[in-house]
Amino acid sequence: MSRSVIDLLATEARFGAQNYQPIGVVLTRGEGVWVWDTEGKRYLDCLSAYSAVSQGHCHPKILAAMVEQAHRLTLTSRAFHNDQLAPFYEEIAALTGSHKVLPMNSGAEAVESAIKSVRKWGYEVKGVPDGQAEIIVCANNFHGRTLGIVGFSTDPETHGHFGPFAPGFRIIPFGDATALEAAITPNTVAFLVEPIQGEAGVIIPPSGYFTEVRELCTANNIMLVLDEIQTGLGRTGKLLAEQHEGIEADVTLLGKALSGGFYPVSAVLSNNDVLGTLRPGQHGSTFGGNPLACAVARAAMRVLVEEGMIENAALQGARFLDGLKDIRANTIREVRGRGLMLAVELYPEAGPARRYCEALQGKGILAKDTHEHTIRIAPPLVITSEQVDWALERFATTLTQDFS
Ligand SMILES: *Cc1c(COP(=O)(O)O)cnc(C)c1O
Repeated sequence: MSRSVIDLLATEARFGAQNYQPIGVVLTRGEGVWVWDTEGKRYLDCLSAYSAVSQGHCHPKILAAMVEQAHRLTLTSRAFHNDQLAPFYEEIAALTGSHKVLPMNSGAEAVESAIKSVRKWGYEVKGVPDGQAEIIVCANNFHGRTLGIVGFSTDPETHGHFGPFAPGFRIIPFGDATALEAAITPNTVAFLVEPIQGEAGVIIPPSGYFTEVRELCTANNIMLVLDEIQTGLGRTGKLLAEQHEGIEADVTLLGKALSGGFYPVSAVLSNNDVLGTLRPGQHGSTFGGNPLACAVARAAMRVLVEEGMIENAALQGARFLDGLKDIRANTIREVRGRGLMLAVELYPEAGPARRYCEALQGKGILAKDTHEHTIRIAPPLVITSEQVDWALERFATTLTQDFS
């Protein structure tokens, strides 16, 4: 007999570190845009595991690739070659137009690896004095949870009581090219930034910002590192969010949807210079680039393109955004988004966004609040027009609901 929801929640609370506060639903199955809880109730997933499940839950072709590879070979470590790595490199390089690839596992590891690589590039190619490299980052960034990364977070929840932290980071406001120019010194090696700040509440920078950023980085010989772990792989309606800006990063970070949610797979993509500085023994990961990860990622990239998910994200994202903008509710301060990376920001007087998410749960939609007053909406990229309209009806009734 299956265990009750109350029992499962109590057991989690008893044994688990309490570093999350999940919505009170226990999921047991997923297919496409849908997930089911242990009591058989169906929900439209409007979070997609923070964009990791962009290809939809349990995509049959990714599943088949994973099962097939799991029967054959799962892990060799990089002490030996495996026959999935070369085709993975080839396919991700062709898809993204990159020259060099460093495979890792989690998104945070990709960020850490990029930080190490651009520092090394700074010392060995740019000629920055050893130990002096500076990396510029943005306020309200989210790049992951490791010590190196949380040290340059501006969110007190994220870094509070976890220090001391590594030096070498300068924080500037997001969307302000003048601030970037002012922060550059001869020791600046990189500017690390999200094309759209996801965890900060889907913050889209002013148009033209990234053109200026690109020019400043080029003029000052600084590596532009775009963290596309959330925005990349079709989420915003283009393969990479940088394409909306008509620019190319020197270093691009991918994760999350790189595996379609089956397995942690991330990658640092770069020009020849940056990753070219790494020599044998200087960086690594037991699981990075393993055959199972490579097989899963290859299938995840293939279905994204073959099944038109990127175009669908653009199309359904526009429909979703228009529909949200049409909702007349005095709770809504702003609706914003690009592709299927959307957010509804509420007025503080409307109360916490979480209670709207809980009301949506009652109506069969799972969405997640961020930063108190914002509801983030990011369904799998396989969502149909009918499903968007179905969701919009429920958002409309929820956002106009009287909670008092
Ligand atoms: C999720 C995320 C990360 C961290 O990825 P993990 O796999 O959780 O380590 C880094 N950067 C951005 C922009 C993200 O959204």
